Amino acid sequence: MNVPYFDLKAQYAHLREDILLAVDRVCQGASFILGDEVSLFEREFAEHCEAGYCVAVNSGTSALHLALLSVGVQPGDEVITTANTFIATAEAISYTGAKPVFVDIDPCTANIDPALIEDAITPRTKAILPVHLYGRPADLDPIMEIAARHGVAVLEDACQAHGARYKGKRVGSLGRAAAFSFYPGKNLGAYGEGGALTTNDAQIAEFARAMRDHGQSQRYFHDFVGYNYRMDGFQGAVLRVKLKRLDDWTARRRELADLYRELLSDVALDLPQDDPASDCVYHLFVAYVDERERVREALQSCGVQTAVHYPRPVHLQKAYAALGYGPGSLPYTERVSDRCLSLPLFPEMTSDQVRFAAEAVAEAVEQTSAVAVSN
Ligand SMILES: *Cc1c(COP(=O)(O)O)cnc(C)c1O
Repeated sequence: MNVPYFDLKAQYAHLREDILLAVDRVCQGASFILGDEVSLFEREFAEHCEAGYCVAVNSGTSALHLALLSVGVQPGDEVITTANTFIATAEAISYTGAKPVFVDIDPCTANIDPALIEDAITPRTKAILPVHLYGRPADLDPIMEIAARHGVAVLEDACQAHGARYKGKRVGSLGRAAAFSFYPGKNLGAYGEGGALTTNDAQIAEFARAMRDHGQSQRYFHDFVGYNYRMDGFQGAVLRVKLKRLDDWTARRRELADLYRELLSDVALDLPQDDPASDCVYHLFVAYVDERERVREALQSCGVQTAVHYPRPVHLQKAYAALGYGPGSLPYTERVSDRCLSLPLFPEMTSDQVRFAAEAVAEAVEQTSAVAVSN
C-alpha cells in the first residue's frame, strides 16, 4: 500500500463539476478581481466563523499584515508571538516595522504558553498574536485576560484552524481580528493564493477593506497608502464550493485522528493533548518521536509519506538572526522542532490507509529505538 502525505487530486475528483461551473460563472461575469463571488464568499465565511465581518485578501500573510495594522502596530512596537509556527506569522509583524518577541510553548499543546506571556510584556508591546497551530486552538482565555490588563490587542493566527472551536466559540471570532489562509494545502484551500481577515469590529473591517485595495474607500479616492491585497474572483468562486464541504471534511479528519490515537496508544511516541473544552480541526496530525529522521526514512521505505512542521523554529532562522535568540533560548520550541513528525491525514484518506500508516509507525519506532539501545 502507498500512503501519500495528502492528496488534492482525490479531492478535485469529487468536486470537478461544481468547480468548473463556478469558474465558468466568473468567466461569464468577467469579475476577475473581487466581484460577486468574493462578496458572497465573505458573507458565507463570516457566518461560518460566527464573526461579524470577513474581508477576503490574496494570502494569509496579507491578512496577518492587515490585522496588525488595523490595531495600530507600527515601527518601534513589539508583538508577542510563538516561534513554533510558519515564518509568515513573524514576517507580518516585521512588515509593520514592529519587532516579534517570541515566547516559549506549552509542550502539551505546542501552542504559546500563556504563563510566560506576562514576563515578555514591555511598554512597547502593542499586541499578542497566538497561533492555533495544526488546527488546535491556543488557550485564549488567560491570553485575553493578560491583554486586557495591559491594554494590548489579541490577534489570532487562524491560518491552520478553519472551523476550530475554543470553549464552544469559533476561532476567528475571539480576538480583535484574525487571519486565515486559503493556501491550497490548508483545510479550506483555494486554487491559488488566498486569505481572509475576520473581526467583529466594523471599523477594523472597513479599514481592512480599504487597505487591501490601495487605501481607497471610493474608487480613485485614497484615504491611506494601502496595498494590492485583493482576492481574485476565481478563488472566491472555488472557496464557496469548498466551504459547503468543510464541516464534513473536518468531521472526517477528526475520525481519522481518533483512529490514529487509538492505534498508536501503545507506541513509544508522544501525541499532543487536546483540551476537552476545545475542538481541534487537525490541519495536521503531528506526533513527537526521538530519532525522527530515522523513523521518517523507515516509513518512506514502506510507502508512508510524512512531513515536518517545522524543522527549524522561527527564532533560529537566519532571517531572524539579528533578533539575537540563540539555541537554547526557547527550549520547548526547539525540542518540538527536533521531534515533530506530521503523519498523513486528509479527508479522502481511508481507514485502511490510517491502519497501514499506524502499523508502519509502530514498527519504525520499535526498530529505531532497538538500534539506539544497541548503539
Ligand atoms: C499558511 C500559514 C500562514 C500564511 O498563509 P499564506 O496564505 O501562505 O500567506 C501564516 N501562518 C500560519 C500558521 C500558516 O500556517
